[in-house]
Amino acid sequence: MGIADNLKAIQKNIPKEITLVAVSKTKTNADILEVYNSGQRIFGENKVQELVEKSALLPEDISWHMIGHLQTNKVKFIAPFIALIHGVDSLKLLKEIDKRAGQNKRIIDCLLQVHIAQENSKFGFAIDEIQEVIKDAEQFKNIKITGLMAMATFTNNKMQISAEFQSLKNVFQEVKNNQITILSIGMSGDYQIAIEKGSNMVRIGSAIFGSR
Ligand SMILES: *Cc1c(COP(=O)(O)O)cnc(C)c1O
Repeated sequence: MGIADNLKAIQKNIPKEITLVAVSKTKTNADILEVYNSGQRIFGENKVQELVEKSALLPEDISWHMIGHLQTNKVKFIAPFIALIHGVDSLKLLKEIDKRAGQNKRIIDCLLQVHIAQENSKFGFAIDEIQEVIKDAEQFKNIKITGLMAMATFTNNKMQISAEFQSLKNVFQEVKNNQITILSIGMSGDYQIAIEKGSNMVRIGSAIFGSR
C-alpha cells in the first residue's frame, strides 16, 4: 500500500466530523505532496525549523499545525503563518505567542497541553491547573484558546491509555464552551481509543506516511 492508500484507509476509519492532522515530521516534501494531492490540507510538524522550511516550499493553502514542544525563542518564526499550536504548556509561552501574534496582526489559535501520562517526560499542565490557566489566558488578546491536547503514555496497555484519555475527557467536559471546542488526542497507535473518549482531532503520522 502506498501513502495515498494509507490515507484513504485512515479516512474510512475515522468519522467525518473528526479533524485529521497528517503528521509529516521527518517526511519529504514529495511524500507530503502525495497526501496533499489526495485532498489532505492539514499537516502537523513538531520542529520549528523543519516546519518553516516545508511551509516555504509547499502549497500555500496547507494549514500547518505545530504539534511538538515549542520553545519560547522560536515562536517568532512560526507566528506569521501557523494555524494552530497544539502543545502550549506554560504561561510564559502563551505570553510570547500573544506578543508575536500581535506583531503579525494575527490572533493565533492555541490548545493547552494537558499532562495525563504516567511519564515525567511528557510536557503539559496538570489537570487541576487547566481551569485557572484558561482564566489567566484571557488577558492575552492575540490568542484564542480553542481546546485541549494530550498524549497518553507510550504503552500497549489499552486500559491505561483509555483511563488517561478519560481523565482528559472529564476536564474537557468541564471547560468546553463556544470557543473551547477541540479535543486533540489520538495518534497512529491509539486513535480509536481516543475517538471513543471524545477526540475530535487526531494527529496521525506513521499510519499514513509509514514508519519513521
Ligand atoms: C509524532 C507525533 C504524532 C504522530 O505519531 P504517530 O504515532 O506517527 O501517528 C502525534 N502527536 C505528536 C505530538 C507527535 O509528536
